[in-house]
Amino acid sequence: MLCNYHTHTKRCRHAIGTDREYVESAIKAGIKVLGFSDHAPYLFDGNYYSSYRMFTNEISEYKNSVMALKREYKNDIDIKFGFELEYYKDKHAREMEFLRKFEPEYLILGQHFVGSEPQGDYVRFLNGDGALKTYVDECIEGLRTGDFLYLAHPDIAGYDFSETAVDKEYTRLLEFCKQNGYPIEINVLGITSNRWYNKRKIFSLAKEIGNDVIIGIDAHSPSAISKSAYERAKELVEGLNLNIIDKLEI
Ligand SMILES: [Zn+2]
Ligand SMILES: [Zn+2]
Repeated sequence: MLCNYHTHTKRCRHAIGTDREYVESAIKAGIKVLGFSDHAPYLFDGNYYSSYRMFTNEISEYKNSVMALKREYKNDIDIKFGFELEYYKDKHAREMEFLRKFEPEYLILGQHFVGSEPQGDYVRFLNGDGALKTYVDECIEGLRTGDFLYLAHPDIAGYDFSETAVDKEYTRLLEFCKQNGYPIEINVLGITSNRWYNKRKIFSLAKEIGNDVIIGIDAHSPSAISKSAYERAKELVEGLNLNIIDKLEI
């Protein structure tokens, strides 16, 4: 059964298409569960503007749109209303209090910055073993809150880490996920856009540790949602014989 819990909308300002087009694409691809998980608006201090997420005053319209599609298409597909969110330690409680008012059905953890924004570091440019440790610490701490359904693109942390650190830190992260029942994501966007996060190495470790994995399209356009997205994800981990799961309990 094909499911996808990682879908964006144009509200984040780097995705295109209408919400309806995402749904139509998903139905055409034979997907049974489509979760919208756009980048959550964030309550920052001061007037910092985060350029890759919706504004806080767009959240009601986002919810209304997704919920209306959920009703309209209920016989064809199970639509879920969610967000992708970072874990920023000292802002998390306030952020959750804000988001909970809109009753999201689920959140996925996508740790795009360590520390926080705007002072923190974009994960793409993390380098040095200490930085990888911080990334892993924050992912674990975030998941420990119990607020997240799964960890998106676990392999998104930068480059230039020693092999020893990669083994050590990812073993720690993956063991935590395994013990606490969190699947890790094979991120299709990382593969199809040839980004830096399509690291087979992390999934070979996941095989050793016995993690469940889930395919997340991370769709930023309706056309990204297709049957071939799942094939691309499987190619990355071909031969590893991972336990790829589909439907999640929400
Ligand atoms: Zn995005
Ligand atoms: Zn995403």
